[in-house]
Amino acid sequence: MDEDDFVLVSRDESLDPNSRSYVSGIDSTVEGLRASLWPLNTFIHENPELAFKEYEAHKALTSFMASQKGWDVTPSACGMETAWVAVYDSGRAGPAVSFNVEMDALPNLGHACGHNLIATASLAAGLATAEMIKQHGLPGKALLFGTPGEEGIRGGKVRLLEAGVYGDVDISLISHPGILNNSALVRTTAFARLEVEFIGRAAHAANSPWLGINALDALIVAYNAVSVLRQQTMPSDVIGMAITNGGAAANVIHAYAAGVCVIRASSVSRLSELQQKVSACFRAGAEATGAKVEIKATQGYADHVPNRVLAASYTKYWKSLPDLPDPPIPSGEQLTWVKASTDQGNVSYAMPSVNASFAIPPGPLCGQPHSRDFEEASGTEAAFVRALRVGKALAGTAVDVLATPGLIDKVKEQWGRDMQAAKDQQS
Ligand SMILES: [Zn+2]
Ligand SMILES: [Zn+2]
Repeated sequence: MDEDDFVLVSRDESLDPNSRSYVSGIDSTVEGLRASLWPLNTFIHENPELAFKEYEAHKALTSFMASQKGWDVTPSACGMETAWVAVYDSGRAGPAVSFNVEMDALPNLGHACGHNLIATASLAAGLATAEMIKQHGLPGKALLFGTPGEEGIRGGKVRLLEAGVYGDVDISLISHPGILNNSALVRTTAFARLEVEFIGRAAHAANSPWLGINALDALIVAYNAVSVLRQQTMPSDVIGMAITNGGAAANVIHAYAAGVCVIRASSVSRLSELQQKVSACFRAGAEATGAKVEIKATQGYADHVPNRVLAASYTKYWKSLPDLPDPPIPSGEQLTWVKASTDQGNVSYAMPSVNASFAIPPGPLCGQPHSRDFEEASGTEAAFVRALRVGKALAGTAVDVLATPGLIDKVKEQWGRDMQAAKDQQS
């Protein structure tokens, strides 16, 4: 990007007087909320609920937001029981800045992805932004979206996007905890799920095997073709495969076999190339055996494209707050790659987005997300304090957009260039 794009946001740690007053305003607002956010954070952590069944979290979060002055809350939004929207409107035309609130936990692992901390950070950010709107007479509005079911194949954000809920929203901000990185420029992978079925013809395996068409053979040829393909894939590609139906009995030629592949790639365009290659492996199994093949592709999440202009604001606030934690946030445009996928990726293809990574103090085993160790680490007060810091930096990012004339245009121009680059990659 051009150097000019950084005119409105300082790259170093010296803050202009406006930003300095926002830093201290946001800091004290969030510190004032600490006593009420801590029990909410703990309640969500101690009552883990699975994707789209976040009933208790939905109730706790919407009642909390309804108790906050000036917020208009819609529970069970868009026909989803656990989705919700809260709006704080200044009444003056200006940008609409939004924060996504995740709530779901994992089967048998509780809040091992730390979504309670995401909820805390986004709530703190939304409330501090509203307070700055009020105190400084800023234009525009702040929105919070309760986005259920991130740990699924068709997450709440994808459904809310399809329902048009983000229609007049200008930017979307969120964060995710881990133990490794503090970063505002986070890239995640795109993923898709490919289900494959082979339909053959049954025959007695001893008497008349030549009358059969072996669907399991087709699946094994396909599996081996996928294994062979792996040598020629890119380092960022991931192909996982499982056999879900390996035939009926050993003394028959198998009439039916099935498997599933989960593929990941660094971008939506690379994912579609990989999908074609894996599908060709499936067809090879059919060609070799004469079985019929059926492939069902379910698109998972898009890769996350972080907005550099917003990330520069986030980094500026992160560094300006007291008690800077380790590890240091990268400066400049250094990207942080995370191999996981999120439906915030789909949001980033619809509008400028930041999905900040933040490191919480690890558990005794230094477990990463989706481990028991991380589940415990996500419930600690030290992790909660980190989430509050993230909330402050997210609020600062939103406040910059509301308070700096012309910044939203810079943000959108950057997004336009990013989307063009993604499209060019595809063609
Ligand atoms: Zn997760
Ligand atoms: Zn997660």
